[in-house]
Amino acid sequence: MGNSTFRGGVHPKGMKELSRDKTIQRYLPKGDLVFPLSQHIGKPAVPVVQKNDPVLAGQIIAKADGFVSANIISSCSGKVKAIEPRMTSAGVMAQCIVIENDQKFTLMEGIGQPTNYKLLTNAEIIGKVQAAGIVGLGGAGFPTHVKLSPKNPDEIDYIIANGAECEPYITCDDQLMRNQPGWVVGGLKVLLHLFPNAKGVIAIEDNKPEAIAAIEQEVAGNDRISVLPLTTKFPQGGERNLVHAVTGRKMASTDLPANLGCIVDNVTTLTAIYRAVALNEPLMEKGFTVTGEAVAEPGNYIIKIGTNVRELLDAAGGFKEEPKKVLLGGPMMGMAITDLDIPIAKSYNALTCLTEDPVEIAQEQMTACIRCGRCARVCPIGLVPQMMQEAAVRRDYKRYERLHGVDCIACGSCTFICPAKRPLTQLFKVTKSEILARRRKEAAK
Ligand code: SF4
Ligand code: SF4
Repeated sequence: MGNSTFRGGVHPKGMKELSRDKTIQRYLPKGDLVFPLSQHIGKPAVPVVQKNDPVLAGQIIAKADGFVSANIISSCSGKVKAIEPRMTSAGVMAQCIVIENDQKFTLMEGIGQPTNYKLLTNAEIIGKVQAAGIVGLGGAGFPTHVKLSPKNPDEIDYIIANGAECEPYITCDDQLMRNQPGWVVGGLKVLLHLFPNAKGVIAIEDNKPEAIAAIEQEVAGNDRISVLPLTTKFPQGGERNLVHAVTGRKMASTDLPANLGCIVDNVTTLTAIYRAVALNEPLMEKGFTVTGEAVAEPGNYIIKIGTNVRELLDAAGGFKEEPKKVLLGGPMMGMAITDLDIPIAKSYNALTCLTEDPVEIAQEQMTACIRCGRCARVCPIGLVPQMMQEAAVRRDYKRYERLHGVDCIACGSCTFICPAKRPLTQLFKVTKSEILARRRKEAAK
């Protein structure tokens, strides 16, 4: 029997060889660090510091505004230089706290002190995760303490560690699992302590044999945790695909994993949970890959959140040739950026600098839809992109909703496979945000 997988999906070129064997190393930034107040799903955080205030690494500089929000932690010591709008990855100015970095990284007292979390209550553990400002670090940005507070905790029977890292080019999770398996497994053990009826499964694509071996060694003898190799296929790391691959359960579009007895967390998020709960280290740093054919020395880093993208790129040797496209994230689901003077927020995991722009090439080659049906065959959600595009082009939102187009996860698989080079995913992203904006407007009436 082959490794676990899901229906649909595509096989883009992995391109992981550019950085997969570059050992993850800590990068200490020299310049100012910039912290957008909104780095998560939910309400923006509210500053609790003022201009010129001294700041230590690990200090809360903005507090969560309500339950679905997240604290922002300074990842350096220094002083508050400004609280003002700065350019962010979305290409818009957003309110940020700017810390003048003294390059000493002086920690607040108590940070790094080991704690026996087994002596804490569940509420205390979740409180530590919440105070640490942890959100989904695989890209989702959903506050983790909310995810760890399901309605029926006794019904959670699987904690799934997402080590798929299916996006081409990106290798920081692979490196994290190879070099810090204790952090990843430590985070999973914290969650198994919270959910005593659950078993832990660490799901890793089979193109990462060293990571699988390192994690297997780390969990040896633990009968509540197993390692599940997954077929290498995109988007294997999607929540629905993982839940199905691990449990055989099918998530409906309205379901959260918790409705099916599952909590799914990326291995980077688990690392942050372990460090917050067992080592008293709030979320200050995370894994990050700088890669692409245009980068002089692709590599993997543990970066301080708030680090300037251009500074990190320079640390990777800068460009060896002019990039045609620069993405935060990978080529399938990443976000194109034009300004490198932006901060790395919590949920970003890579900078990918390409010497070819697939969108530009597709635009030159685009023809009418030839109704081949390939897009529907690869859609991991089971949608019919061909019909969705017709509805989207006509702005027939009712039909688009009847086709369940709002369930699209913007994975890019249909665009990748389309022989007519139709810009399907881009069209679906715009249409979905238009429909959701209309829904919000209706609800506010
Ligand atoms: S893959 Fe492209 S050409 Fe084929 S049906 Fe879908 S949209 Fe049309
Ligand atoms: S329709 Fe959405 S979910 Fe389906 S393949 Fe296309 S981008 Fe992915």
